[in-house]
Amino acid sequence: MALTYNIAIDGPAGAGKSTIAKMVASKLGFIYVDTGAMYRAMALYFLRKGIGSGEEEAIEKACKDIEVLIRYEDNVQQVFLNGENVSGLIRTEEVSNMTSATSVHKPVRQKLLELQRQLAATADVIMDGRDIGTCVLPHAQTKIYLTASSHVRALRRYKELTEKGEMCNLEEIEQDIRERDYRDMHREIAPLKQAEDAVYLDSSQMTIPQVVDAIIEAARERGLS
Ligand code: C5P
Repeated sequence: MALTYNIAIDGPAGAGKSTIAKMVASKLGFIYVDTGAMYRAMALYFLRKGIGSGEEEAIEKACKDIEVLIRYEDNVQQVFLNGENVSGLIRTEEVSNMTSATSVHKPVRQKLLELQRQLAATADVIMDGRDIGTCVLPHAQTKIYLTASSHVRALRRYKELTEKGEMCNLEEIEQDIRERDYRDMHREIAPLKQAEDAVYLDSSQMTIPQVVDAIIEAARERGLS
């Protein structure tokens, strides 16, 4: 019997995973684990070192010099790269694109797998990413595949950026999203795909509370008391 209850939530960029997972975590008293932030921290390291996303050997070597750690401050996940809190530096488009290009490499994925499994073994977690239900936590009690049309996802991102006062172009955002989806779904190791036993949710026409409720209901149906 597993001692912890794990909810895995996978899906493409901009499907609303992190917003929704945070709300589910707070309603259930779970810890929210954002695995994308860990890949982003690693990508930031490669960018800073001027390592190209295709330089496999340099990436493998650099992985040995990287330590990624997760801590929680007021219930909010903070990601540390070699001791530096980089949580505020990893959300740029540059880092997003570098992350999907470097997360294809085995040493990068191996580095984070153990850390993710440890977190899930020691606490009730809702963990979001691309390969959580299929690869990281194949025995998670509840698995969700959360998606939305690429247009809806691009619109959400556009709104987020314009609200922050950033100049951006909707078509470019949609194009970036499609490219990231393609890379995440077609890479050789741990590609994004729906686990066979995952509940499929398309949030295009759903409100946030509706998605949150659907996930909690799915977990209750799968043994969560
Ligand atoms: O979820 P987020 O958009 O922050 O993830 C950024 C990138 O990190 C994704 O596009 C994907 O390439 C990579 N990633 C991954 N596996 C995960 C989480 C994220 O490959 N479990």
